[in-house]
Amino acid sequence: MKCSFCSNEIPRGTGMTYVQNDARIFYFCSSKCQKGQLKLRHKGWEVKWTETYRKAKSVSAATAAASKEKNKEQKQEQKQKPAPKKDAKQDTKQDIKQDKQPQAKQ
Ligand SMILES: [Zn+2]
Repeated sequence: MKCSFCSNEIPRGTGMTYVQNDARIFYFCSSKCQKGQLKLRHKGWEVKWTETYRKAKSVSAATAAASKEKNKEQKQEQKQKPAPKKDAKQDTKQDIKQDKQPQAKQ
């Protein structure tokens, strides 16, 4: 049986079945999927992490995994680089202080 939201396979003995007043039946693999559809009213094909989205946009799992790795690498690079902007700001502050001191003496 597949999840109504993310269309992942639901293992036997897990997940939940939800029956609406209009007799529509939804199967959810997790509370995340249930909240996404019923509480937040998201559509499965509009949420990027779902299998439904990948099928709708014809994105293969391999390309999705590759893009995830790229994002991770970019985040790690950003963490490793110390922000050079702070140094620049400190320099300008020191320059301002040096400028102010001679004016105060006069
Ligand atoms: Zn699901």
